[in-house]
Amino acid sequence: MTEISKTPRLFVEAPLSIPVNLQKEQSHYLKNVLRMSEGDRVRTFNGKDGEWLAALSFEGKKGILHPQKQLRPQLEEPGPWLFFSPLKKSRMEFLVEKAVELGVQKLTPVLTERTIVRTLNMEKIKSHIIEAAEQCERLTIPDLSPPIKLSRVFDVLGNKNLYFFKERGEKIPLFRGQAECALLIGPEGGFSAQEIEGLEKSPQIKPVSLGSRILRAETASLAALSRCL
Ligand code: SAH
Repeated sequence: MTEISKTPRLFVEAPLSIPVNLQKEQSHYLKNVLRMSEGDRVRTFNGKDGEWLAALSFEGKKGILHPQKQLRPQLEEPGPWLFFSPLKKSRMEFLVEKAVELGVQKLTPVLTERTIVRTLNMEKIKSHIIEAAEQCERLTIPDLSPPIKLSRVFDVLGNKNLYFFKERGEKIPLFRGQAECALLIGPEGGFSAQEIEGLEKSPQIKPVSLGSRILRAETASLAALSRCL
């Protein structure tokens, strides 16, 4: 019998304690990519019912998962919120995948003056998020918010502190991490002077540094998230 840790993991929307009809792509993935057959086992999670072990059957091409037992109860997975400026395709995929692995709770694309990529394929990003969550054994799927303008960040922040990652400037304290905070990383071209001035007027903002080197936006995001573990 396959070890539990090697048993494929799938995110589904449906309740896990009753049989789940898989979507076409998931059925195809199990049958034709993983070459699984009737009776093989799969782990499932839906962000609500913990993690379950299920046995696979097929009705034609459609896969059905029959629950066997709960492996883990549901846990909350609180983590940092990341506000980031969208990046070009491969860098954004990398960022999203690694951010999910590092425990991000919410991803919010922010459109700034120097943001170049301004239209996003939200479905595609969502599917990268799900894939990464399946792979790293999370029990929740981080939220993906629709893109917002920089000026709206404070409207969605609640009472969280917003760590503003500033690559240049005098005497900016080094970011040492905090479990439940919000992180703001700028675009490849950095924030404009006007944006920096606007941000620094808010009492919720905490300018922080990641050291003397200028990091790419995705490196800065991941370095920041890794300090919040
Ligand atoms: N082109 C800009 C660099 C932008 S780097 C310049 O030359 O100044 C992209 C973003 O990553 C920045 O807006 C900042 O939020 C973050 N960043 C990069 N290096 C950083 C550092 N050393 N400390 C804090 N934030 C950093």
